[in-house]
Amino acid sequence: MATTEPIELVRSRIEELDPADAHEEIASGDLVLVDTREQHEWDEAHLDGATLVPPASVADRIEEVAPDRSARVLLYCRVGNRSARAADLMETELGYENVASVAGGIEAWQQAGLPVVEPEGMTREQRMRYSRHTLLPEFGVDGQLKLLHSKVLLVGAGGLGSPSALYLAAAGIGTLGLVDDDEVDASNLQRQVIHTTDRVGVPKTESARISIEALNPDVDVIEHRTRLDADNILEIIEGYDVIVDGADNFPTRYLLNDASVRMRKPVVSASILAFDGQLSTFVPYEGPCYRCLYPTPPPPELAPSCGAAGVLGVMAGVMGLLQANEVIKLVAGVGEPLIGRLLLYDSLGTRFTELKVKRDPKCPICGHDAPEIPESEMGRFPDYDAFCAGTAVG
Ligand SMILES: [Zn+2]
Repeated sequence: MATTEPIELVRSRIEELDPADAHEEIASGDLVLVDTREQHEWDEAHLDGATLVPPASVADRIEEVAPDRSARVLLYCRVGNRSARAADLMETELGYENVASVAGGIEAWQQAGLPVVEPEGMTREQRMRYSRHTLLPEFGVDGQLKLLHSKVLLVGAGGLGSPSALYLAAAGIGTLGLVDDDEVDASNLQRQVIHTTDRVGVPKTESARISIEALNPDVDVIEHRTRLDADNILEIIEGYDVIVDGADNFPTRYLLNDASVRMRKPVVSASILAFDGQLSTFVPYEGPCYRCLYPTPPPPELAPSCGAAGVLGVMAGVMGLLQANEVIKLVAGVGEPLIGRLLLYDSLGTRFTELKVKRDPKCPICGHDAPEIPESEMGRFPDYDAFCAGTAVG
């Protein structure tokens, strides 16, 4: 069988049943029902009682499924083309005598309102909403269900947090926590795209919640309208699977690092300044922590500014979305996370550079002899009181 042969010609040689007739025949029981699609399509929905034999395996595997060549075999695929070719192959080359294909495939079947077996845990609306995820073989329904069951905390609902939150919400992260004690300011709107002009003056967590809920009602938003400090951080991060660090100051970054290593929570960290950004994924004890990379914050005279620093608005989008991508990979268990690697992005030159970074065996937080840090000391080592906050731009 040449797959280049026009499908009309192939279909003219075989028997086709419309979905209603196929349904009746299946109900009568005496046939072998075969799904000739790929695994990820099967995972989305299939007919009850069918066996999956992907198109490329028909010649090798159909005999296992239908050993009796005179038995009735009914094939279907998505729209009826692959099953037509498989039926033709079976009759013209494999010696089967009584094969039919469902015209219009499972799509016509579902349009006719006939029942299918659908994956547990997802509603019809969710299957539609996330179909471009579930169609990815590497991702599938399992990957989507992992996202729907995951809890992600965004530290900062500002420059990095805004694009991250929007795309994580669109992707169907089940719970998004937002930590921010700030209100929307007109100067935020150049990059903090989750907020809107009419919400200037509204708390950022509330403004972000409004956008997220409008985008995707599947997402539970938890507002933490506060600043992370040593007294509340353990309690706040405890309930989350992954943390997105979009903090706008060094003390919070160090505090978050120290607490997340202790709680063994992965942190996807990014920072932006002017036209440059950097990104890394810190998974405690699998790779370095933030303090392995930056044992101490830069001295204030090298930090760009203690007040407002400039940043190209798009940088927040680029780096925030790279963070969202890392989160999705970690949650779904696909791809290679940015552990032990520091990604630098120079937007003026459009250049990405990757640096290898290692755990510091002497790291005071994740090193081999690191002492247990008392809660009262967490994030306060070294002493930041004298250090001016606000170098990276959130
Ligand atoms: Zn470390």
